[in-house]
Amino acid sequence: MQSARPIPPLPAPVRPDPVRDRWAAPMRLAIAEAALAPATGDVPVGALVLGPDGEVLGRGHNEREAVGDPTAHAEVVAIREAARTVGSAARGRADGNGARPDGWRLTGCTLVVTLEPCTMCAGAIVLSRIDRVVYGALDEKAGAAGSLFDVMRDRRLNHRPEVIPGVLADECGEQLRAFFDTHR
Ligand SMILES: [Zn+2]
Repeated sequence: MQSARPIPPLPAPVRPDPVRDRWAAPMRLAIAEAALAPATGDVPVGALVLGPDGEVLGRGHNEREAVGDPTAHAEVVAIREAARTVGSAARGRADGNGARPDGWRLTGCTLVVTLEPCTMCAGAIVLSRIDRVVYGALDEKAGAAGSLFDVMRDRRLNHRPEVIPGVLADECGEQLRAFFDTHR
């Protein structure tokens, strides 16, 4: 059984914080996406993939319980949807030989997620060629973006996205705490 996770506090926020403040609005969308998860008993984690111009290419919430899939984390669901969006646009541009330029690569995209990605999701992010990851609450027990591991910034990998932690971390952490208070 998983006990209520203590979500560790981040350093006091600096105001204004130009690096994080620009991601507050998309993080609020990710929080709204996360709020859909508890209806199926899923831990509220939400994610968005934004295109280079900020358009939403994919969104997802944790649906492990809903679909009975241990890999159905919010990030994976959002990445799959974004790849479908990008892939169908690429197919629209396909040449006569059926070539699909960048049919699955999410180059230039940003993933916004309410909780620090786990090792699986960090791996999926690297493989998808996403260029930036913005996350809310830290996950000291399983986080792979600086807490327990730092997969995405491992210099042995040839694709390393920029990582911006702690965007609306209090709101994101509170959403998780409220879930665990009522469900565990
Ligand atoms: Zn994950």
